[in-house]
Amino acid sequence: MAAAFDGREERGDVAVERWHMPQPIAPYLFAFAVGELASRELGARSRVWAEPSVVDGAAWEFAEVDGMLAAGESLFGPYAWDRFDILVMPPSFPYGGMENPRLTFVTPTLLAGDRSQVRVIAHELAHAWSGNLVTNAHAGHFWLNEGWTRYAELRMVEVLEGQDTAALVAAICRKDLDETVARFIAEGQGGLTRLRTHLEGVDPDEAFSVVPYDKGELFLRAIETAVGRERFDRFARRYLETFRFGAVTTEAFLDFTERELPGVLASVDAPRWVDGEGMPDNAPTARSARLDAVIAMGDALPAADTRLSTTEWNLWLERLPRPQPAAFCASLDERFGFTSTGNMEVKVAWLRLALASAYDPVLPEVSRVLGAVGRMKYLVPLYSALLARPETQGLARETFERNAAGYHPIARAVVRGRIERAST
Ligand SMILES: [Zn+2]
Repeated sequence: MAAAFDGREERGDVAVERWHMPQPIAPYLFAFAVGELASRELGARSRVWAEPSVVDGAAWEFAEVDGMLAAGESLFGPYAWDRFDILVMPPSFPYGGMENPRLTFVTPTLLAGDRSQVRVIAHELAHAWSGNLVTNAHAGHFWLNEGWTRYAELRMVEVLEGQDTAALVAAICRKDLDETVARFIAEGQGGLTRLRTHLEGVDPDEAFSVVPYDKGELFLRAIETAVGRERFDRFARRYLETFRFGAVTTEAFLDFTERELPGVLASVDAPRWVDGEGMPDNAPTARSARLDAVIAMGDALPAADTRLSTTEWNLWLERLPRPQPAAFCASLDERFGFTSTGNMEVKVAWLRLALASAYDPVLPEVSRVLGAVGRMKYLVPLYSALLARPETQGLARETFERNAAGYHPIARAVVRGRIERAST
């Protein structure tokens, strides 16, 4: 349970476990899980829980969590929740992670075997400050949870892996954001590209997107750029102290910002960010040498001895124009084995490119992935890519029918929505 463990008492074939929660939380953070679970110690304040067959791999994957806690505290002040344990969920878990206090739940797709996905752990840990300590008052202010958390996540990546990697991650996020914004506007849902949303009559799961995360992050980044990092860091700490264990609205955030950093909202054109649709022109852009190097690779087939990190491959694949010729796709897969990689970030970026290029040799793997994983970050783009071509719409429907019962209800509803929209 996402709470403090008091002990277990066995009475014959019944066991009673007791827990209490010393810190106040919002109701959406109340969580417990039941299963056959084993644990491994990661550090003085953290351990990982998982099914016995994956627990050792998980302990290796998340071994750096102590460094993350230290990075978080150096940026945002003391960690308020005593423990930061991690629970690896079954593959049907629909999200990358859920920041349940004291016990973050994560998808098993993070177990890439190369520690390349720990950024999701940094994100969930960042929620210990933004979201859990200072919570959005309701879903219309969701950007206050996720925008601040994406900002904190990127700052932690910068501390742990350097500014170069943080810039690569920021570039991937920006690509995803621009695509999402364009899709919402094309679908006549421009309202969902605002930071402050009006969700009366709208299912929050349908409204869910990267906009509150990445547009929110860029808004905060614009403020940081305007006032300088030192002033921004003092501002962030005072924000967290002022609203500690409380709930905030966008209005409260704006009032606080105007008091602490007079004039900055006008200088970054805050109304355009908060209530405007689409992306403001003054959105900051990440820069780094490695980012420039990935962009400089262009559209040419990389040499067979090219060695890139997960983040670099991901960004390069996402940036490739589509469709690509079948011969290019075949050579790419032959050289780098993307179809068979165990790294889901790279694999799904590749499968999306291949589907958009009508490169059908990947269809069996797409079908297999859709039956093995329930994380919406992978399900939604793969189903959308299948639905985008009349030739593969039938495969999308069949695959969904076969696997729907194994998806989490939220993922099932979101994919069903996409399928229904594609049929009309
Ligand atoms: Zn989050």
